[in-house]
Amino acid sequence: MPIYKVNLKARKEIAAGTMAFHFEKPEGFVYKAGQFADYTLIDPPETDAEGNTRGFSLASAPYEDYLMSATRMRDTAFKRVLKTMPLGTELTLDAPYGSFTLHNNTAIPAVFVTGGIGVTPVRSIVLQAIHDQVARRIIVIDSNKRPEDAAFLDDLNKSQEKNPHYTFVGTMTGMEKSNREWHEETGHMTKAMLSKYIDDLAVPIYYIAGPQAMVASMRKVLTESGVNDDNIRTEEFTGY
Ligand SMILES: Cc1cc2nc3c(=O)[nH]c(=O)nc-3n(C[C@H](O)[C@H](O)[C@H](O)COP(=O)(O)OP(=O)(O)OC[C@H]3O[C@@H](n4cnc5c(N)ncnc54)[C@H](O)[C@@H]3O)c2cc1C
Repeated sequence: MPIYKVNLKARKEIAAGTMAFHFEKPEGFVYKAGQFADYTLIDPPETDAEGNTRGFSLASAPYEDYLMSATRMRDTAFKRVLKTMPLGTELTLDAPYGSFTLHNNTAIPAVFVTGGIGVTPVRSIVLQAIHDQVARRIIVIDSNKRPEDAAFLDDLNKSQEKNPHYTFVGTMTGMEKSNREWHEETGHMTKAMLSKYIDDLAVPIYYIAGPQAMVASMRKVLTESGVNDDNIRTEEFTGY
C-alpha cells in the first residue's frame, strides 16, 4: 500500500476513556467502509515494547472529507503520545487494509454484532450506506457495559431516521454502574435477542467486531443459534 503523511486535526472524547482522532484525508486516498489503517508515530517523545505503530479501523465514512479513528485510551506509550501531541503533528498512514466490508449481494441482510470499541468500522459502514442510498437491510447489535462507554451511540441511533432499511439495537451489560437512563436491551446477546430483530437467523451474513475474546464468544452464540459458520465474518481487535 502507498504510505501517506497525515496531520492530526482534532481530538475528542467520545465515550468514557475513549477518544476519536481526526486527520486530514490525503489527496487520492481511497478506501472502503470497514477497512483499517496502520498509524505510525514519527520520532515520538517516548515508546515501548509494542513500538510506534497501531492498526485502527477507519471510523470515518469514505464520503467524509476527513479520516477518523477511535480508541480506548489505555496507558501505553503510543496512546499517551497520541493524546498529548500538538494538533498539526504528522503521522505516517499505511492504508487501506482489510476485508471487513459489506458483501456484494444487497438482497442478503447484513447483521453487525459489535462489542465496545469494535463498533468503529460499523460507523463507517452505516454512514456510507445512508450516503449511497442503497436499499440494503442492515442491523447493528452493539454491546457495551454502559451507555457512557458506547462510542458513536448517537450517530448509530439517529442514522435510523435517515435509512428505513437500518435498525440499531444497543444492549448494555452493566447498567447497575450507569448514571444514565436506558430503555433498550440489557444483558449479553442471546438467540432470543437476535430472534426479536431477525425473522430467519439463517439468512443474513453476520459481521462480528471487537476484542478477541468478545469475537470468540459472539461466534459461539451465533453458531449455537443455528447460524452457518460460512455466514460469519469477523474483525478481531488484537491487543485488547
Ligand atoms: C484490524 C484491526 C483493527 C483494529 N481497530 C481498532 C480500533 O478501531 N480501535 C482500537 O482501539 N483498537 C483497534 N485495534 C486494536 C489496536 O491495534 C491495538 O492493538 C489496541 O488499541 C491496543 O493498543 P494499546 O496501545 O492499548 O496496547 P499495546 O501497547 O498494543 O499492548 C497490547 C498488549 O498489552 C496488554 N495491555 C496493554 N495495556 C493494557 C492495560 N491497560 N490493561 C491490560 N492489558 C494491557 C494487552 O492485553 C496486549 O496484550 C484493531 C486491531 C486490528 C487488528
